[in-house]
Amino acid sequence: MPSGKVHEAINMTFFAGLSLGYIYARAQGISIQAERVLNPQTISLFSLSYLVGTFLVTPDLDLAEQNVRAKSHWGGLGFLWIPYGAIFNHRGTSHSWFVGPLTRLIYMLMIGVTITSILGFVLPFMGYELNIQTQLSSNWRQLLLGALFGYYLSQWLHLVADGIWPDHGVKRRSKRKKRRRRSKHK
Ligand SMILES: [Zn+2]
Repeated sequence: MPSGKVHEAINMTFFAGLSLGYIYARAQGISIQAERVLNPQTISLFSLSYLVGTFLVTPDLDLAEQNVRAKSHWGGLGFLWIPYGAIFNHRGTSHSWFVGPLTRLIYMLMIGVTITSILGFVLPFMGYELNIQTQLSSNWRQLLLGALFGYYLSQWLHLVADGIWPDHGVKRRSKRKKRRRRSKHK
């Protein structure tokens, strides 16, 4: 299986190809009809999510109870992924096409809600107030789709590089195999 570094290189090569294709299409005036869908905001969010999915939130976080490259990119916050690594077997559900990436989104949402709740509880005691205001822009559906597609695409490339296709089915591996594989993903 490719190492974390190789996965990143594959994803970035694909990204460079996409960018060149986009620049070429623009130069040819092809994207004019698509302007409503491919507006600069959506493209920025797509790119951002793709990069996050390439470097920070990868399927190999299922090894986060050990040391894995994506976890190290989180620096001091890497420990937040340890429970995820403990829950998911390496190359199990975490490496499936639709549910796998979703498990990481839900996991991050749960961590976010937990931290926000703790802050909302603790801060008033310290004399602060937690004030979260969100404003949805009118094209939020489009932006959300762009962000999701960027993230999912980065995860799918990882899976393809791992040799896992949509009809592959989830492989269940024993913990012993998992331990044997860990060194390859550092
Ligand atoms: Zn993998």
